[in-house]
Order: sequence, then C-alpha cells, then structure tokens
Amino acid sequence: MENNTDCLFCKIIRKEIPANIVYEDNSTIAILDIHPVNIGHTLVIPKKHIENIYIFDEQDTQNVFTAVQKVSKAIKSGISADGINLIMNNERPSGQLVFHAHVHVIPRHNGDGLAQWKEGRGYKEGEAEEVVGKISSQL
Ligand code: ZN
Repeated sequence: MENNTDCLFCKIIRKEIPANIVYEDNSTIAILDIHPVNIGHTLVIPKKHIENIYIFDEQDTQNVFTAVQKVSKAIKSGISADGINLIMNNERPSGQLVFHAHVHVIPRHNGDGLAQWKEGRGYKEGEAEEVVGKISSQL
C-alpha cells in the first residue's frame, strides 16, 4: 500500500505534481481526471490521506460530500451536463486504483453512449429481509 510520501494524490495536493484544479478549499481539492470518460469528469479528493470510505470520520464525510455537491452543480451549469454520476470505488474489487479516497463526478449528456446501471437480478422469497438484517445489524 502507498503511504503519503509516494501517494499520487498527496503529491498533487502538495503541488509536487501538476493537475487541472477546478476547486480547492482547506480540506478538499477537485481536479480533472486525466482519463475522462466524458469531458469535465472531475475527482473530489480529501486533502487528508484517507484510503477509503470506511475510515472517514463525520467531518471527512461532510467536507468531501459538500465539495462533491458544489462541484456537481458547477459541472451541471458550467458545461451544460444533462445529468451527473457520482462514483466512489472502495478497495481493489470495486475498481479503486489510487488508494487515497476520491469521488468521481461524471457529467452525462443525453445520448452520450456511456453505460447505464443494468437492472439487477431481484430477490428470492425472504432473501431481502435476510439481507436487511445482515446490514442493519452492523449499523
Ligand atoms: Zn494520499
């Protein structure tokens, strides 16, 4: 695992590596993704080196998602997006590649050809209640 010294996003936050910064405040930075799936695809990143959502404290959550909302509204109006996808990959199986938490803010346009969420498989009799129990018992 990366530490703060060789973490790509920490280097960007310390301005050791250039990035296209669209927003910055005391606790977050938002930069253009260098491989955008649509023009304006932005990453919102906490300045604190936090690996994933599980270890956010309440303040981290508030900071990051407040910035996510600001950036979403700016993308919506600034580049006339018809919609926005918010995606946060946590851990390798989800597709996380940089192990410093970040939220993808992806502008969508009518007919842009990007994939949409596929309809899921549904639940068998009694299965939904069992799943609710497994999750809610951890909250
Ligand atoms: Zn980092």
